[in-house]
Amino acid sequence: MASTDKRKSKHDIDPEEMKVRVDLAAAYRLVAMYGMTDLDATHLSARHPHDKDRFFLNPYGQLFDEITASSLVELDLDGNVLSEGEVNWAGYTIHSAVLKARADVNSVMHTHTRAGMAVAAQKDGLLPITQTALRFYKNLAYHAYEGIAEDEAEKARLVRDLSDKQAMILKNHGLLTAGRTVGEAWVLLHDLEKSCQSQVDALAGGGEIERPSKEICERTADQYAEYASGNTMPGERAWPAHLRKLDRIDPSYRS
Ligand SMILES: [Zn+2]
Repeated sequence: MASTDKRKSKHDIDPEEMKVRVDLAAAYRLVAMYGMTDLDATHLSARHPHDKDRFFLNPYGQLFDEITASSLVELDLDGNVLSEGEVNWAGYTIHSAVLKARADVNSVMHTHTRAGMAVAAQKDGLLPITQTALRFYKNLAYHAYEGIAEDEAEKARLVRDLSDKQAMILKNHGLLTAGRTVGEAWVLLHDLEKSCQSQVDALAGGGEIERPSKEICERTADQYAEYASGNTMPGERAWPAHLRKLDRIDPSYRS
């Protein structure tokens, strides 16, 4: 991977590209705000609005609460870095694989949270024991652990396992979501995280677990799918409110 030119100044970025950059920088701030970071590891990506073969990733070494729209690194699906900055190689592997294989996906998010890793370490994976978890009843994949994702050959197995799903548990590793927009990937990540936290808490509580019937699980999953195919995509209605919240706290993500 070679850096071919300097970081873009804001004058070089058109409004559509800036919107995607602002949304992605906001997602980094939200992941930090909701306690889902792992120091400077893990990564969130968004596809370039004008070139399906390019995407943005975090500058490696920066904490999520200091990432800004203009500091995001632009790279292509072949791993060429097109702006100033260094990226996490495993991040390139995971995000480029999903963005290349899935034309419907424009944003991918990956975390190593405590609850996400805990469920990723459990043989049975995510249990259908809360309404929030049922969002993933028919929309969750699993990928077996292969070591740190730096091997080009793992890309094919990642996308084979993800298939047409929007969420994946990377076994012994962490969580991944794939959305049509940054807002959708964010709400999926938030709900997958909450589902894992609830599962860990329920199992730790020691009481007998109440399980909805298979029919109710199927029905709830279908209700979520119907909602996701509606006019307003999941995550989109509240996305401006998330930005307003960030603006009240620290609007520097927009710069
Ligand atoms: Zn990871």
